[in-house]
Amino acid sequence: MLLIKRGTAGYEAENTARLFFPALKLWEAAAPPPAGESFIAALAGPHALLALVRLGGSVCWQAEPIPPQNSGADTEYALCRLLYGLLCRLTGCRPPWGMMTGVRPVRIIHDLRAAGADETAIRAHFIDHFDCTEEKYRLAMRIADVQRPVLEQAAPADCSVYIGIPFCPSRCSYCSFVSRAVTHPSVRALVQPYVDCLCGEIAAIRRTADACGLRVRALYVGGGTPTSLTARQLEQLLQCLAASFDLAALREFTVEAGRPDCTDAEKLRLLRQYGVTRISVNPQTFSDEVLRGIGRRHTAQEILACYAAARAAGHENINMDLIAGLPGDTVEGFAQSLQTAIGLAPESITVHTLTRKRAADITLENRATDADVGAMLARCTALDDAGYRPYYLYRQKGTLQNLENVGWSLPGREGLYNIYTMEEVHTILAAGAGGATKLVQPGRRHGRILRLYNCKFPHEYLARYAEVLQAKQKVEAFYAQYPPTQASCQP
Ligand code: SF4
Repeated sequence: MLLIKRGTAGYEAENTARLFFPALKLWEAAAPPPAGESFIAALAGPHALLALVRLGGSVCWQAEPIPPQNSGADTEYALCRLLYGLLCRLTGCRPPWGMMTGVRPVRIIHDLRAAGADETAIRAHFIDHFDCTEEKYRLAMRIADVQRPVLEQAAPADCSVYIGIPFCPSRCSYCSFVSRAVTHPSVRALVQPYVDCLCGEIAAIRRTADACGLRVRALYVGGGTPTSLTARQLEQLLQCLAASFDLAALREFTVEAGRPDCTDAEKLRLLRQYGVTRISVNPQTFSDEVLRGIGRRHTAQEILACYAAARAAGHENINMDLIAGLPGDTVEGFAQSLQTAIGLAPESITVHTLTRKRAADITLENRATDADVGAMLARCTALDDAGYRPYYLYRQKGTLQNLENVGWSLPGREGLYNIYTMEEVHTILAAGAGGATKLVQPGRRHGRILRLYNCKFPHEYLARYAEVLQAKQKVEAFYAQYPPTQASCQP
């Protein structure tokens, strides 16, 4: 499927078309596409808008005049709305989030509230403007309500630190991260130098935070799988964190202990010993067959044993990740995994929707699969029944139907770092390969945001380590321009 954009048809027209055909390619040539090729055209001329689809030999189109005295933004919205309506009719699909394409729907509610909108206006924005379903609107509203106190507590000098461990015991078939399997000798040889450099970068981050007048509120060690480090390497990292930050002043210290095939009692004990307050033990599914199919080299039984070991080690705040839509899974299978997770009573359960990075076009054949993912997510009412409530949500590009990832937690057990990062509450300073530092202008809603990226792969990170350290100067330059001490709290 190709997409042709002309006139003032902007990026959003492309995003709208991808809601229905995630894998479409842009056709930028002036000549028309080859005969027989399916395509979508979104054209905005000086007087009219046109949406046209040629699919399987038949052509459908719809046109309307540009409303007079419209701004450029309104023209773009009108064209997206026209295209969205045509694609809904043509495919028979109505995406649950309607024509909303952004990754942070809850942020829209926070912004509307800050601008003085009441619930009626917010509802109209979701239901009428974006064509969201009532169910998705209500989900977003619930989450906004849970997040409100966290946002209200935000202080201009707050920040969090992310530490990336780009190694895993094996690579899952659906993985889109840069993580490398430590089973390979060439990768294993990188791990110790990586940990050594990472500790140096963490110390540099501490100095940078001090120089900028920042107060670290949350630490998050993710990846990859941090527990794929040896116990000795993990302790080295934890010692470095304890030496660099005032752990007692943190509101949260999370380490992902996602895979049971590398997380043993000794590592779980170390995490407790060094003040980790929250861990993640991630089944993804409790079906051994599905686990095999996605390349996870462990069984559901091993997850249960790992969870029990984590409790035995004294971990009192455990998250479990599940994925809806894994290859080979069914609605009933997913519901069983959900029930098993609920039965274990972790403090939070995060339900992801599988993102297919090279997603195929929605066709009549595979639309049933997408419907199944929606049916799986619908089973999350079981979480409500068990006392969990949704507290953060994000969507990713490439997820069919643009379905969402939602963190559910018992009241008071929300993963704060997840809210901080997803709602861009404050700066995140990132260390390690693939780390993305996000500098958020203190005290300003929709103020400046500056992203600084570390090298993506561990070997690059090691080879260009001097540059990694040098880049901390950009953080200081940012805060010299926007000193947190001179900012007031966000409205
Ligand atoms: S455990 Fe996570 S990071 Fe590691 S390979 Fe699997 S999906 Fe990727």
